[in-house]
Amino acid sequence: MKKCPSCGKDLDDMAAICVGCGHAFSDIKPNDRKANAGEIIIAILFPIIGAILYYVYKKDKPTAAKTLNLVSVIAFLAYILLPILGGIILGVISA
Ligand SMILES: [Zn+2]
Repeated sequence: MKKCPSCGKDLDDMAAICVGCGHAFSDIKPNDRKANAGEIIIAILFPIIGAILYYVYKKDKPTAAKTLNLVSVIAFLAYILLPILGGIILGVISA
């Protein structure tokens, strides 16, 4: 059970809207879902698109947005670090 913060009515834990006064619980996002495989692949291949999707999704789909943000940041860092690591390794080999 939880209480409506607006009118104090006892409500079911899963209730998205208070039956007493119509108060909508802001922590419940009816459109929220996990990121799908296609979105994750796009975020890996194109971190900038992943970042754009994050901003598009973060209001209505925070779970998907969080995943896409993490994936695109990791992919972005990998694209920066891999050539540097490659350069270091080549430098060590050729030294
Ligand atoms: Zn209420």
